[in-house]
Amino acid sequence: MIPPIASRFVGGESAPEAIERGRALADRGVGTILNLLGEHYNERAPADEDAETYLELIEDVAASDARACISVKPSQIGLDVGADEGERPTERGREVFEENLGRIVEAGDNHDVFVWIDMEDHPTTDATLDAFERFTTGYDGGVGVCVQANLRRTREDLERLADLPGKVRLVKGAYDEPADIAIQEKAEVDQRYRELLEYAFEHFESGVAVGSHDPEMIDLAKDLHAEYGTDFEFQMLMGVREDAQFDLAGEYEVWQYVPYGGKWLSYFYRRVMERKENLVFALRAILGR
Ligand code: FAD
Repeated sequence: MIPPIASRFVGGESAPEAIERGRALADRGVGTILNLLGEHYNERAPADEDAETYLELIEDVAASDARACISVKPSQIGLDVGADEGERPTERGREVFEENLGRIVEAGDNHDVFVWIDMEDHPTTDATLDAFERFTTGYDGGVGVCVQANLRRTREDLERLADLPGKVRLVKGAYDEPADIAIQEKAEVDQRYRELLEYAFEHFESGVAVGSHDPEMIDLAKDLHAEYGTDFEFQMLMGVREDAQFDLAGEYEVWQYVPYGGKWLSYFYRRVMERKENLVFALRAILGR
């Protein structure tokens, strides 16, 4: 069982628990982005197993009252296959990833469940964007991808993505990357986020997802929407600024990212390491204060 201290950030160990959370969020006007926890499989078998679990999840979501989509990590469904032997991703990894992603996108299309692709560390960016391009074009925009404002390449990537159907989620970036690849200063990442968000609102017709809890970026997105009229949504993590999520949902489209599954411990650890106050929030939730 997930201990109460972690259950602030994790939707449960099983799909039914996570879908039940999605149903409760729907009652409050918030959509759910379901993510089965798991990543970096070097072998094919666990990657195939998680892909199968996503196929079942899509069917379960379609049969439920939750307003839910899914978000998958490339290295969870095959991109790191063979990576223990040297450089990553390998050709084999790309093949397995695209094969599994293709099955997931097909099932999503059949059951009307939108599929997001998370973005992982920089060696995976090209393979992730290539797969996004292939499937969002093949499925008429039924796929979304995440891009990271801290990467120096992202402005160019957005120019490429602007011509494609499908949605793009802009985040600041969660991975420690080398200085030649990514901006290191937080203030500079924030500034880049603002510029990229404006570019996305100006050029993207198929929708922008603002993946941030930052009140400044949220206000900027509202202003940009007023200026450009672009379709957009806010996306935030389970357990982070939930009051703000419910407030925003009164006026805007809001989706909550809900991770679930047996591998919750490392996810919870990451949330606490990135912001120590998260531990205090979790403790307060337990103590009821
Ligand atoms: P920060 O820059 O961390 O903080 C800015 C301000 O936001 C703070 O000053 C505070 O006012 C507020 N805030 C932030 N966190 C909290 C908190 N815990 N409690 C209260 N206030 C807070 N990264 C990837 O690299 N790849 C992905 O695929 C990816 N997917 C994501 C999906 C979603 C839906 C979200 C929300 C994030 C995702 N991220 C992903 C993580 C992202 O890159 C950032 O690391 C993370 O969102 C923190 O940046 P921020 O913009 O939210 O706020």
